[in-house]
Amino acid sequence: MSSEEFRLTVLGTRGSMPICGENYSIYGGNTSCYWVQAGEENIFLDAGTGLLKAPVEFPKPPVILLSHLHLDHILGLGVYPRLLHSELETYLLIPANEMECPLNILNSFYTPPFWPLNLEEYGSQLHIDQPLFPLQIGDVRVSCMSGNHPGSCLSYRLEWHGKSIVYMTDYEMEPLSFMKLSPFAADTDLLLFDAQYSPQEYERKKGFGHSTALSALKMMKSCRAKKILLIHHDPQSTDDILSAREKMLEIVHAHYAREGDTILL
Ligand SMILES: [Zn+2]
Ligand SMILES: [Zn+2]
Repeated sequence: MSSEEFRLTVLGTRGSMPICGENYSIYGGNTSCYWVQAGEENIFLDAGTGLLKAPVEFPKPPVILLSHLHLDHILGLGVYPRLLHSELETYLLIPANEMECPLNILNSFYTPPFWPLNLEEYGSQLHIDQPLFPLQIGDVRVSCMSGNHPGSCLSYRLEWHGKSIVYMTDYEMEPLSFMKLSPFAADTDLLLFDAQYSPQEYERKKGFGHSTALSALKMMKSCRAKKILLIHHDPQSTDDILSAREKMLEIVHAHYAREGDTILL
């Protein structure tokens, strides 16, 4: 790609758990992972099983930025082949409060008996740290805001050369956070928004920390996003279900994210 491009590639868009089979061939079954290319910078938003599809080699060390530590957002770390190369450097940024050590938190899952190895035992040069915001990654400026999700989850705004992407995953819309997040996402070129549930599912799963397409479109309108990708599909939402929901959106620049989608901004 040209060093003057800002691009997002969907590597995994499933929420909660990965899934596979013929009913998941269009929208995909890997969990949350989005690859942002901004000139020479490569940033991965979350490290779900979609990270398996990421390239191994980059001209500069890539940055993996986690929104939170629920399993669907970290499962790809353990199987990402780059972490087996001793000469390769990767930055892994984990939001945590000041009292916590990010590595210890992650290794409370990446440890026996849940997993055979700690992450630092893979052998690559993995730099694990806590991000300080606003964060500068080359020319990319990253700011964050917390939404409404059990245990908390950060939404991110990435800005590069006058363009922006806002990543709002694992968010259950309610009035207080909506009032903060709408200006945070103002006029973004691309909004990624959690629309895991249908209105009926949402009635049964209030408080689980996820939203609906209706909430997504409300946010899109309020923040004047130019495009929206609906993300964090429920494992029970088959291609047929998501295609039917997509037809009902009736807005040109609103789509359910498909694994492999690439958007040039
Ligand atoms: Zn999730
Ligand atoms: Zn979550």
